[in-house]
Amino acid sequence: MKFNTKTIHGGQEHDTAFGAVMPPIYQTSTYAQSTPGGHKGFEYSRTHNPTRAALERAFASLESGKHGLAFGSGLASIDAIIKLLKPGDEVISTNDLYGGTYRLFTKIYERFGVKFHFIGMENATTIEDYINENTKLIWVETPTNPMMNVIDIKKAAQIAKKHNILLAVDNTFATPFLQRPLELGADIVMHSATKYLGGHSDVVMGALVVNDDELAEKLYFIQNASGAICGPQDSFLVLRGLKTLHVRMQRHCENGRKIAKYLSNHPKIEKVYWPGLESHPNHQVAKDQMSDFGGMISFVTKGNDYNEAIKIVENLKIFTLAESLGGVESLAGHPASMTHASIPKEEREKTGVVDSLIRLSVGIEDVDDLIADLKQAIG
Ligand SMILES: *Cc1c(COP(=O)(O)O)cnc(C)c1O
Repeated sequence: MKFNTKTIHGGQEHDTAFGAVMPPIYQTSTYAQSTPGGHKGFEYSRTHNPTRAALERAFASLESGKHGLAFGSGLASIDAIIKLLKPGDEVISTNDLYGGTYRLFTKIYERFGVKFHFIGMENATTIEDYINENTKLIWVETPTNPMMNVIDIKKAAQIAKKHNILLAVDNTFATPFLQRPLELGADIVMHSATKYLGGHSDVVMGALVVNDDELAEKLYFIQNASGAICGPQDSFLVLRGLKTLHVRMQRHCENGRKIAKYLSNHPKIEKVYWPGLESHPNHQVAKDQMSDFGGMISFVTKGNDYNEAIKIVENLKIFTLAESLGGVESLAGHPASMTHASIPKEEREKTGVVDSLIRLSVGIEDVDDLIADLKQAIG
């Protein structure tokens, strides 16, 4: 089945009770048993729920994996991965990454004795310099948030395999429409389904997909034992969102391309970060591992003035000033004061998150309106 068919049919079967085309919302916590243990595969909704199970099969299908797991948020799904580790274990992580992931690693898991190395991975071979006998996980986010760095997943996977270390990839920005990390050799692919997979800014959810049966078993155990699951109503909404993923992504990419070009030619803009630009340092890797370049764009203004950046995001009318990304509507954010405020200033500036950096999540509106909005806001 091709990807654009999988978004609609992947892992799906019609409801067995009445033939409902969409999986019903099984809004139930428990399931009747005829005799102790006599049930139809479902006992309790933390463990299993038919609506969530349909969504988990859809996630697996889209990411070319065998097993999908849905969680109550993207961070809950990352939390489940780190729970595979024990005190003394070490993780090598991308240094430019989602602020909440950095907070989870440093503020929660460092206290439990897990050690994290945050490094630039634009040259993937540098990962090898940080590997020792305690290294258990490599954490890659690509493209990165918000600097849009691109990391070579295939190279990272080769290094991980050679040293028998797990490779997890946060695929939130790219989505499986643009990039499928399991096909490139990763062990775990993770999503904040809150973003493009849900696609309508109405659900918070996380997803994991793996191929290995044993690894899946461990993660299902953690999912059930820790209990950070999502509910059936949210599962239904994300299943509905997935059905248009390919169509939405096509438009996100088209609009992203035009806006990246517009900003690149703007006299007040110093630099534009979008992997589709030939000036992007890892443009070639992006071309090799992604089918297009998405709708996430960051840029800095000339003079790098904090207040000017704030004024631009306040002036926008069609772009909404808000955290999050990946919905049909365009959003703008100011990482230094919003999504990345939890990262110390020296740390964030090291990775390029300077005071005037603005991040756009380009939606699927008419691109002429979006460009006109940027024009009036930037001046
Ligand atoms: C939003 C986001 C997360 C966290 O997901 P939540 O659903 O907000 O918990 C993780 N990684 C990336 C890249 C994100 O954009």
